[in-house]
Amino acid sequence: MRFDVITLFPELFEPFLNSGVTRRAYEQKLVDVRLWNLRDYAEGNYRRVDDRPFGGGPGMVMMAQPLLQCLQAIRAERNDAAPVVLFSPIGKPLDHAGVETWSASAGAVLVCGRYEGVDQRFIDSHVDLQVSLGDFVLSGGEIAAMALLDAVARLQPGVLNDEGSHQADSFNPALDGLLDCPHYTRPEEWAGHKAPAELMSGHHEQIERWRRERRLEITARHRPDLIAAARAAGALSKADEAFLASGQ
Ligand code: SAH
Repeated sequence: MRFDVITLFPELFEPFLNSGVTRRAYEQKLVDVRLWNLRDYAEGNYRRVDDRPFGGGPGMVMMAQPLLQCLQAIRAERNDAAPVVLFSPIGKPLDHAGVETWSASAGAVLVCGRYEGVDQRFIDSHVDLQVSLGDFVLSGGEIAAMALLDAVARLQPGVLNDEGSHQADSFNPALDGLLDCPHYTRPEEWAGHKAPAELMSGHHEQIERWRRERRLEITARHRPDLIAAARAAGALSKADEAFLASGQ
């Protein structure tokens, strides 16, 4: 899949694309990321991309025309009808289901806003959907774009070192959308705290039961809505329900 990113700060993406386990996904173009510097599509000596808001008020607004010209250049190269996504607090918050949808898609054009935002006429004419990272305000859409690209990359087969390990992560339908269990590693005793004995037992079934119970416990405490969703989907076994009812 291919993501074309429109940004005023392409350099922010370089360390991100070249670090960590997801680097392979970008290098091998499992997730093909192309960066487009919006300033290259602005006109005049100053290559202006923003102007003062009509009606007055603070800040600047991204002009529609450079965005359109950049989008046209991308369309000419892509030759498909990839949706245009604008990162914005208005959008639907990104979640696991959204990330899975993107990770099985042909990609998108990602528009990173800056300043007070984007001229509404560009949004009305060319943006297919808006995506938010959560109920807070960033200075730009770049971090939201990186969040989406990172989450999509780690779902690609072969990207994580341990095949299938993302299936054990929080929110994954493979584990009924529950939160993850706690993790421990060496030494067995650290600062007077022992790692849970169940994990040392070598008993596969006992370890899996322990993990399942911790997932249920943590999810019930922090995200009861996810327990309700798992129950509604018929994903909780009798043993799960008995454990939850015991209130441990
Ligand atoms: N005036 C806007 C915020 C502009 S912040 C408002 O109050 O809603 C500048 C840019 O940062 C936005 O255009 C958007 O692309 C990005 N941004 C800010 N907060 C975001 C969020 N929660 N999720 C995704 N993108 C966000």
